[in-house]
Amino acid sequence: MPGEADFVCLRCGAHFKMPYEESEGPKERACPECKSNSVRRVKEKK
Ligand SMILES: [Zn+2]
Repeated sequence: MPGEADFVCLRCGAHFKMPYEESEGPKERACPECKSNSVRRVKEKK
């Protein structure tokens, strides 16, 4: 399902949403707050 996924910045702790598709595979992302590349996807619990 195309859409957005939640991410968290490991450096400043900011939470944000970014476009994400499973088929894209790993992609380099940067935190909108501090521009760090230490960004990790947060899986939503249902
Ligand atoms: Zn950050």
